Amino acid sequence: MNESARNISLEEMDRRSVLHPFTVLRDHASGKLGDPRIVESGKGVFIKDSKGTELLDGFAGLYCVNIGYGRTEVADAIAEQAHKLAYYHSYAGHSSEPLIRLSDRLVSMAPGDMSKVFYGLSGSDANETNVKLVWYYHNLKGQPAKKKIISRDRGYHGCSVISGGLTGLSFYHNAFDLPTGPIRHTGVPHYYWGANEGESEAEFVARRARELEELILAEGPETVGAFIGEPVLGTGGIIPPPEGYWQAIQAVLKKYDVLLIADEVVCGFGRTGAGFGCDKYGIEPDLITIAKGLTSAYVPLSGSIISRRVYEVMETAADSLGAFSHGYTYSGHPLGAAAAMATLDIVEKEDLPGNAARTGAHFQQKLKEAFADHPLVGEVRGVGLLGAVEFVADREKKERFDGALKVGARVSGAALAEGLIARAMPHGDILGFAPPLVITPAEVDEMVARARRAVDKVTDELVRDGQWQAKA
Ligand SMILES: *Cc1c(COP(=O)(O)O)cnc(C)c1O
Repeated sequence: MNESARNISLEEMDRRSVLHPFTVLRDHASGKLGDPRIVESGKGVFIKDSKGTELLDGFAGLYCVNIGYGRTEVADAIAEQAHKLAYYHSYAGHSSEPLIRLSDRLVSMAPGDMSKVFYGLSGSDANETNVKLVWYYHNLKGQPAKKKIISRDRGYHGCSVISGGLTGLSFYHNAFDLPTGPIRHTGVPHYYWGANEGESEAEFVARRARELEELILAEGPETVGAFIGEPVLGTGGIIPPPEGYWQAIQAVLKKYDVLLIADEVVCGFGRTGAGFGCDKYGIEPDLITIAKGLTSAYVPLSGSIISRRVYEVMETAADSLGAFSHGYTYSGHPLGAAAAMATLDIVEKEDLPGNAARTGAHFQQKLKEAFADHPLVGEVRGVGLLGAVEFVADREKKERFDGALKVGARVSGAALAEGLIARAMPHGDILGFAPPLVITPAEVDEMVARARRAVDKVTDELVRDGQWQAKA
């Protein structure tokens, strides 16, 4: 051990010892990125760092702190459970009261005809579980070839070995050798970029459904086990589905007996203005992935909600396979379950889906007012308390900026200088918003005003540096 390590600053200690996700390692280690931001506290939609900077968190952490920061009800529920029983496993029929109550609650609030909940700790591991359940189900049904999983380009499903393969963003795969053997990708339902010349939105939707059907037929329907999708595409760019998209997709899946996994990790628990994204878009899933909003990230907890249709087949396996041999040490952790119960109490008592619908409508309107006619903006989109502004070099010709200009990242940086966290989405020049669902209309106005100042500042810089010119 390095003796001097004890006398260095926290910032320096971080650079020496923490491997940060999604960080340019050399730039962080060398200090080129500046000091790590050490976040110390939070209240409502604001966080505060160790230098006293207060930021309006327009992304709720990573779209997860839906109930806002500093909710003592949840902290108390975690502490109370920890004092009583911090841990016991849930193998071989062992249980705890919060685990039982949470599961009963989730099965009854979830969309579709659901039967059981299995727990993990992250969205990635829950998707990993859901893929295993698809394989298990088809094996038990005597369809052992039905194993391929179709995901969408720009879909985000995590970064573990299988979930990272499902994720349709290439930088999650580069240099990691993910085994993508059973995974296929189909087109993203983004009309703005994806539509052919003169194609209507309805024609575009029909084409996406046709492409899915062609893919299934090309692979052989007897080899396609499931389709996975986020009701609203999140990390791939915050892309609400075009009208009729989910109806068209589900018709194809039904025709070829392909299971549907709804990845509700972002949409679940109110974000779109409905309880679940499935409720909002009329999706009838066979498996549901939940995480983020389930505990508002107060402690890690994820889940796979399993439909009656899938569960009933799994139950028959007892005759041939014995126990269901899948589970984690921390599956159904009592602290996670207690935190989820307290979180869902707040979600229900304060009607956060309702707030996401009402304040979300105000947010969508403000975002359009501030950006729809801005010369740097190609598209403003969103639903509920999810929103995005996409920047383009040429609005008329729909031309992207040269990636080297890093326009999205610069806008996000300028927003920080205005005291706002809004996320530069990793695909294209997109500024994303997903504030806590407790945000007020006045805070929405402040958030959008700060974002507008940031975009104007970057626009001025681009013009000043001769990198871009507004079209006459
Ligand atoms: C964040 C996310 C995941 C992965 O969750 P982790 O907890 O980061 O593993 C999966 N699916 C969606 C839609 C997500 O947004």
